[in-house]
Amino acid sequence: MEMTQNKILLIHPLGYPEDRAGEDISRKANIMPPLGLASIAAYLEQFEIQADIIDCYAHPFSDDLITAYITKEAPSFVGFSCTTATFLDGVRIAGQIKKIRTEIQIVFGGVHVSALKNKIIDRYPVIDYVVVGEGEHTLHRLLTAAPNEKAGIKNLVLRSESGKAVFTGFRKKQIDLDTLPFPAYEKLFGFPNAYKLPIFNYPSVPNASCISSRGCPYACSYCDRSVFRRTFRYNSARYLYHHLKYLNDEYGIRHINFYDDQFTFNRKRVEQFAGLMIEKPLRMTFNCAARAEHLDAPLLDLMKKAGCLEMIARKVELIKEAGIRVKGLLMLGLPGETRQSIQKSKTYVNSLKLDDFNLAKFTPFPGSPIYDQIQKKGPVMGNFDENWEKMDCMQFVFVPKGMTKSEMDEEFITFYKTHFMKPKVWLNYVSMLWKSPDSWKRFLKDMFGFLRFAFADKRR
Ligand code: SF4
Repeated sequence: MEMTQNKILLIHPLGYPEDRAGEDISRKANIMPPLGLASIAAYLEQFEIQADIIDCYAHPFSDDLITAYITKEAPSFVGFSCTTATFLDGVRIAGQIKKIRTEIQIVFGGVHVSALKNKIIDRYPVIDYVVVGEGEHTLHRLLTAAPNEKAGIKNLVLRSESGKAVFTGFRKKQIDLDTLPFPAYEKLFGFPNAYKLPIFNYPSVPNASCISSRGCPYACSYCDRSVFRRTFRYNSARYLYHHLKYLNDEYGIRHINFYDDQFTFNRKRVEQFAGLMIEKPLRMTFNCAARAEHLDAPLLDLMKKAGCLEMIARKVELIKEAGIRVKGLLMLGLPGETRQSIQKSKTYVNSLKLDDFNLAKFTPFPGSPIYDQIQKKGPVMGNFDENWEKMDCMQFVFVPKGMTKSEMDEEFITFYKTHFMKPKVWLNYVSMLWKSPDSWKRFLKDMFGFLRFAFADKRR
């Protein structure tokens, strides 16, 4: 069978062997749809390019499905979207695909390859192209350009005739997000029920995630912004309102988790969006993340009226006064961390009236400013075991100087234990019985796994 031009399969890898997925507490707590791939699929389909998605994270036993698709559909391209932790699993699947049809072009995108660019093409012969940054335009050009035009496509790393990797440079003009179609949710098998928002973070089902902006103007040392770089673009309030309405009309979605890095960065947009939600209610609620400086009492009041239930911020008191639940996003183990600094953080976090928190283990991702510093300074900053498959923020691959890995693990467990031993915290979870009954159902179903994670730090 000949390969079909104008057809691409997009794959979201699981990141580890499929038989371990059933016990993975991280998947039980949260399965996020691959919205980037769904957006690319919707974009390509406008140009009559068939784009299908196989999400191995939501559907772990997908290897056979991929093989069957490649054999039957014979797409000309297969694209992968990977984080650092899932990259090598993507390479494994790409190898299997090439074994079935060597002529298929393999393209990788996402944060990890955007940061490492040429190194990826030089080190992994199975990969033909790397898309640097957002994928819509670049993939469209790649799929439709003649072979001799490919070197002229911006935001691409390809292999030259001599076999060396060449980066074509950045495109000057970035995508106006309001010109993009809504993500192709219909391409995500089982949407919305196959996906799960973070447990205890939503009041009702069915629910979904949504990304309404790209980029972040800040420069936190541990954050890799290789995909959208230091820009900030966003959907208008009107587009956003219609996107939510579409999700509500088509899929009955009742709660949205805004996955934006900086949902409240543009105050006017949030005011207009909240205004629309109050004026023409969709009977939907939402939660989002924000930096403290982009919050104040009037804005919080407005967001509460518009249906906002949860925020992440330091202005905890202010948020609570507005009647919104608060979740803290914390990170442990940055360079310079000591027993004393951890104790201080613990005392501080305990003094806040957080309803919930998430503690990540600091991971120096390629592309983050701190990764370069750690590479340069080496053991002066700490010990870094750069094992990509372990870099999922749930393992201490970096141990700050003066600490050992077992001390860091111990501190991590006591951090959670201190929080979960507080009767107030449990009362709060009990109150979620009627605020988020579905979360309780999920908790009871996998209670042993959740408790094992909270008290013993065991992901599987
Ligand atoms: S951590 Fe958040 S605020 Fe900091 S650069 Fe990354 S996205 Fe922006």
